[in-house]
Amino acid sequence: MWGVEGRQRSRAARGLSHQRPARRAGPFPGPHPPHPAPAFLLAVALLLVTALAARAAPADWILSGRYVITEDASHRVIENGAVAVTADRIVAVGPKAEIDAHYQAKQRLDRPGAIIAPGLINTHTHAAMSLFRGIADDLRLQDWLEKYIFPAEANNVSPDFVRWGTRLGCLEMLLGGTTTFTDMYYFEDVVAEAAKEAGMRGVLGETIIGFPVADNKTPADALQYTERYLQRFRHDPLIVAAVAPHALYTNSDETLKASRELAGRYRVPLLIHVSETRKENDDELAKRHTTPTQTLDSLGVFSGRTVAAHCVWVNDADMAILKARGVGVAHCPSSNMKLASGVAPVVRMLALGIAVGLGPDGPAGSNNDFNLFEEMDLAAKLQKVTMLDPQVLPATAALEMATIGGARVLGMEKEIGSLEPGKRADIITVRTDRPNAVPLYDPISQMVYALKADDVRDVMVNGKPVVRDGRILTLNQAAILAKAAEYRDRIKASLK
Ligand SMILES: [Zn+2]
Repeated sequence: MWGVEGRQRSRAARGLSHQRPARRAGPFPGPHPPHPAPAFLLAVALLLVTALAARAAPADWILSGRYVITEDASHRVIENGAVAVTADRIVAVGPKAEIDAHYQAKQRLDRPGAIIAPGLINTHTHAAMSLFRGIADDLRLQDWLEKYIFPAEANNVSPDFVRWGTRLGCLEMLLGGTTTFTDMYYFEDVVAEAAKEAGMRGVLGETIIGFPVADNKTPADALQYTERYLQRFRHDPLIVAAVAPHALYTNSDETLKASRELAGRYRVPLLIHVSETRKENDDELAKRHTTPTQTLDSLGVFSGRTVAAHCVWVNDADMAILKARGVGVAHCPSSNMKLASGVAPVVRMLALGIAVGLGPDGPAGSNNDFNLFEEMDLAAKLQKVTMLDPQVLPATAALEMATIGGARVLGMEKEIGSLEPGKRADIITVRTDRPNAVPLYDPISQMVYALKADDVRDVMVNGKPVVRDGRILTLNQAAILAKAAEYRDRIKASLK
């Protein structure tokens, strides 16, 4: 609010300058002004005041650093740069000297050694599953799901579990520089509450699945639950409520069509797992002689904003469909590697112009953390080693997937994903003074291959600081860690 008032004050000041009270005040412009010298001085003084007022526009924040990585269309990196923020928006990005000359900020964050970058965007995860972190590793996906995750979920998932698990997930994500997360789970309304409490942006999809789960016993119940949830979080400044049918193989055709219809009616995204494993493809080919992508397309599931997680086993015809329908892909390299799912053809997708973002998936068994620095690094290296070519996916492309590329996947590229005037102020600072960060030749290469989630120092979401100097400002970290330990004992006992 302060910023809005400030802008109005500034406009008022400029307005005054156009009125030129000195001219109205008497016969000064006449042929024989009685006091030319004082009139001239007054005019000069007024011009100076006007110029200063116009130059120093008010802002709520100025953040400055050694480099500002903008991720704008020209991939501009500004050395000794700064970002000005008013309310929830970025108002200017440029060299620090220019920003300082043009803006008078209420608060400043000067990090002369740091990189300032757009907040990272997670396009696929299950935050509350953080409470299952490491419950069972090194298993086949089907064994992991059927022997551990489904029983553990059946015994433990409740609104309280989801609240504390999401708090833990948001805590880890924010400390590691993620400002937006895309989630699929149960009790997603509780996920949304926890995300808002954390001050984090979320595209949060309520799971719809063809068997009884913790929050709903039938898909019909789940669809009703989802609709109430969509209504509740409509127009929220941080939360985009979404519809998340789990996958093709866990839902009937009718449920998938109803999910699309619901998402379409509320104009919200649909989130779904697609072609994660070879088995999923083989089963669908055996059943209908079409790939999962072709089946989903024929059901009309892609006829609106869709985020498809994984897309490991997509062929050229599938990718043509994804491109034609504007489906965004959430690439999850850690998860695909850990579960030995395969390698998504990311280079081909990017060449076709498909929007590709990054997700940690997980964190229980399929990855075990929410670290987008790791995902950037692995995304680049996985394509290089698979294609035996170190040039196929450079650092610039990996960072793009974690920022503006992820925003495109979510259909939010006009709002987030880069540091540009008019966009939401989702901004991170990353320290570059630790042994893993020096010396620094290229800040983008450093972000992808050398810096760690731990190097994130400050995080702002929607113009509000949520992490300052490596400490969370919005959540009770000690209480979350204690609760995680408590849940660990309870979950372990429930599996015996
Ligand atoms: Zn997943």
